[in-house]
Amino acid sequence: MAALNQKMVGLGTQRSVIRELFEFGKKRMAEVGPENVFDFSIGNPSVPAPDSVNETVMRMTREMDSVVLHGYTSAQGDPLVRKKVADSIRRNFDFEVSPDSLYMTYGAASALCCCLNALNVPGAGDEFIVFAPYFPEYQVFIEAAGGVFRLIPADIEEFQIDFDRFEETLNEKTKAVLINSPNNPSGAVYSEATIRRLAAVLEEKSAQYGHAIYLITDEPYRAIAFNGVTVPYVPKYYKNTLVCYSWSKALSVPGERMGYVLVSDQMEEHDLVYAAIAGAGRSLGYVSAPSLFQRVCAECADDTSDISVYEKNKEILVRGLRDLGFFCVEPQGTFYMFPRTLIPDDIAFCEKAKDFNLLIVPGTGFGCPGHARISYCVPTERAERSLEAFAKLAAAYR
Ligand code: PLP
Repeated sequence: MAALNQKMVGLGTQRSVIRELFEFGKKRMAEVGPENVFDFSIGNPSVPAPDSVNETVMRMTREMDSVVLHGYTSAQGDPLVRKKVADSIRRNFDFEVSPDSLYMTYGAASALCCCLNALNVPGAGDEFIVFAPYFPEYQVFIEAAGGVFRLIPADIEEFQIDFDRFEETLNEKTKAVLINSPNNPSGAVYSEATIRRLAAVLEEKSAQYGHAIYLITDEPYRAIAFNGVTVPYVPKYYKNTLVCYSWSKALSVPGERMGYVLVSDQMEEHDLVYAAIAGAGRSLGYVSAPSLFQRVCAECADDTSDISVYEKNKEILVRGLRDLGFFCVEPQGTFYMFPRTLIPDDIAFCEKAKDFNLLIVPGTGFGCPGHARISYCVPTERAERSLEAFAKLAAAYR
């Protein structure tokens, strides 16, 4: 047998629970018809990209020099793109950002990997704190970077932060804290009070331990917030913040792989941290992010897809599930909700749901058993019709 990195072989061969469900769904659809399967497994945007995206693609392919448009950009991204993105951040969040603080990446996933590889000191036992429920790839990314993954159990009443557990876990080895708001899978948005308190704790502990504790904020769902809720702009509250942004969900372009890391201009030793991000990008091969879509996303940075569909689906499902006796924290953004399962065993519950052609994901994989994730990025009529299947599922437990 070839001598290979067995960890990588494992990662490459184990299918995720979500992928398994997705495959199961395809099989079921062939058996009972696609309209009879309620696939709430995957977080693929269901609304098209705004017209501005396709129009910009066409305009650029028509008007720009093809060699430039399809050529390599600078490793950290095209300077004009970074200027436009910095301008957009200033306009939208009233926060000053230099283009030289931005590093363009292949979506939020590679932005996170750049941050983790930049911060982790090999052999130092650096710890990275994550709050449940969390996006499962965080553990993969942290461990691949050589860091230690530390999980704080969920605050299941509101999906904010359990500060008692958080403060118990912080120690001299804490290198960074990773947050995700609006959150996959809960749909929660961290309130301004939560962010302020988090920043205060990090300031205090950084001073106590004599080194910066970085705050990495993973924000692919920033643009998807409901009922006018404000998503606090984290760098305004904590200077040692790294923002991992992505246009995957905001513009419904996940396949185009476009995002960035922002190293806050106020960060201590900013230039050194930025150099480490660029070095991590280089070592991982995340240089010169896709040229055409850098330009398209910069041009469309202030646009979003029609998120009203997600909000409508959310209303239908939250109301419908609550009527059926589910406890569900109201999502304030994303296209996910995370109700409690009707029995403590979420894995058995989601397995049972398959009997009614309902594909929902057990909370265990998100570090939060007793819950299930529903990705409601589906056509609204599908969300409406699914309530009958949820009613049958609920009846099975009466
Ligand atoms: N972070 C979270 C919380 C996500 O849900 C996702 C994708 O679903 C990502 C990061 C990765 O997104 P991207 O497509 O930008 O790499």
